[in-house]
Amino acid sequence: MNFNKVLDNVSIYEAGKPIELVVREYGINPKDIVKLASNENPYGTSPVVTSKIKEIAENMFVYPDDSMYELKEALSNKFDVKESNVIVGSGSDQILEFCVHAKCDSNSKILMSNTTFAMYEIYGKQTGSKILKTKDDEHNLEQFSSMYKEHGADIIFLCLPNNPLGECLDKDDVYAFLETINKDTLVVVDGAYQEYASFKDKRKNINPKDLISKFSNCIYMGTFSKAYALGGMRVGYGIASDNIIETLYKLRAPFNITTLSLAAAIEALKDEEFVHECIVKNFDEMKRYEEYAKTKGFDYIDSYTNFITIKLGELYSSKEVAQNLLERGVIVRDLTGYGVNAIRITIGTISQNTKVFKVLDTVLDKLK
Ligand SMILES: *Cc1c(COP(=O)(O)O)cnc(C)c1O
Repeated sequence: MNFNKVLDNVSIYEAGKPIELVVREYGINPKDIVKLASNENPYGTSPVVTSKIKEIAENMFVYPDDSMYELKEALSNKFDVKESNVIVGSGSDQILEFCVHAKCDSNSKILMSNTTFAMYEIYGKQTGSKILKTKDDEHNLEQFSSMYKEHGADIIFLCLPNNPLGECLDKDDVYAFLETINKDTLVVVDGAYQEYASFKDKRKNINPKDLISKFSNCIYMGTFSKAYALGGMRVGYGIASDNIIETLYKLRAPFNITTLSLAAAIEALKDEEFVHECIVKNFDEMKRYEEYAKTKGFDYIDSYTNFITIKLGELYSSKEVAQNLLERGVIVRDLTGYGVNAIRITIGTISQNTKVFKVLDTVLDKLK
């Protein structure tokens, strides 16, 4: 059968491996498996959110409130913006998709960092757009600028902090860059890990209200999947000028998130204390990974997120290391597919991390 030709160039997104797969393929007991491949919050969902979900589970025969009134109100209060500046999606992924489809066709260009969130390229290619990448893996604004001057772009993606590498640009540098960008270029600031970055270093903090009032061509993207511990609920949001949000709404199907997801997100916003505690623990545990990498002589990228990317140098192949960890019940992300010989590990709980170090010791010994 013939399909839309642009899809010939589209690759399928490879998600982090699920626990079920490791149980099936290697016969490991699910409780012995450590899954640190998708940057979920390892401390689980806040108990108040879980009990809210159980409480409303009886109402599932009714469609959700399609206006999402309560959640949009809570988000607009949190960020001090108007409700007309907010759109909610099935994960921020869906908002990314809306942005690309709203702006691009086969004559468009999309500019991004060489190693960044894979969905930018996938959504871009779905529209037949040309994908432009900077030379460096990590975000380099000089390279962004010179490529923008040379080729222009319909969309620029800035992942702040960047997944899968973990680095983050300073707000002041980002603003100086944005000053030079044409108002007809949509700039997507993906803040999936902003809660972590702004805790670690105030200079990284991008405030959505400030961003969109200074730059009407920017959209800020946030998610409940990471720090807010609701990856399974699929809730994300975009914050932008009325004009951008109105346009994105044209691409939205009704009831694009569920009743449970709505309630969970609303409840999660009431328990910021939980989020804060998780972030504190995250950076405490991250120190152990930094120490571990140093002991083994590996370079790592200074991370502003809930994961760390460890470069394996010349001696080891990240593909092999990740596979050997998997067979022993530790799921991490191999970055070979991104063209980098590194593994990305989500920072787990104390006991999960202790297990990672132990199993990693065994694997590195074996592959030496
Ligand atoms: C996790 C992630 C997202 C979105 O996740 P959703 O679960 O779809 O909200 C977006 N961007 C980056 C960089 C991410 O890591």
